[in-house]
Amino acid sequence: SSNVPTYKRILLKISGEVLMGEQGFGIDMNTVKAVAEEVAEVAGMGVELCLVIGGGNIFRGLSKAAVGMERSSADYMGMLATVMNALAMQNALEKLGVSTRVQSAIQMNAVCEPFVHRRAQRHLEKGRVVIFAAGLGAPYFTTDTAAALRAAEMRCDALFKGTSVDGVYTADPKKDATATRYESLDYMEVLSKDLRVMDASAVSLMRENGIPIVVFSIREPGGLRKVITGQGVHTVIS
Ligand code: UDP
Repeated sequence: SSNVPTYKRILLKISGEVLMGEQGFGIDMNTVKAVAEEVAEVAGMGVELCLVIGGGNIFRGLSKAAVGMERSSADYMGMLATVMNALAMQNALEKLGVSTRVQSAIQMNAVCEPFVHRRAQRHLEKGRVVIFAAGLGAPYFTTDTAAALRAAEMRCDALFKGTSVDGVYTADPKKDATATRYESLDYMEVLSKDLRVMDASAVSLMRENGIPIVVFSIREPGGLRKVITGQGVHTVIS
């Protein structure tokens, strides 16, 4: 079994829900630490890492818009939630000795850097993990789409989607015992079968740019390292 990473530079997207652990809401610091350990392990192997973290554990725009809040206000609140998650992750990574920078799509100079492409590029070259916060900085988008855009912009070799399931299944494996996992899928299959791994716009953007999407479980200890060295359980969309 090889220990050589298959990809030199990746963007890892983690949904906010992963960070709430067994809690029903918010940030579970033990879970943040566990995810940070996964990231630190592959950063230590020389893999260049960009991170995008969702905000669904704190605030989701659409759900508040559904109960009467103005959609764009609700979405801006969702974007702010991703900044909180980014700061929690930055803190956990730095405690493990990993150098990081948070870059936000909405300027907040007292809190983090603004998103500046060339600066982000430089951070990656210096071995820093760059956490992109506040999504795209625009309402009506999601952090999946933001992850896809940043993966393309930063010329990542793959978009890793860390979820609570170890790949893409024919049906929800938590509800259907006959569900089987796909080893690989075509972008178009994901779109036409409406497999809901990521937003359709994110999948389309990855298809147009030929960037594979790797779906795996971020909950399994050592899982990210295993998948990036071609060993762990996952589904590749290409
Ligand atoms: N959001 C947005 N524009 C973006 C990214 C995020 O408006 O570019 C808002 C949106 O309201 C979303 C919330 O931020 O519901 C949290 O992001 P998301 O739902 O993607 O988080 P996840 O499901 O990954 O936890």
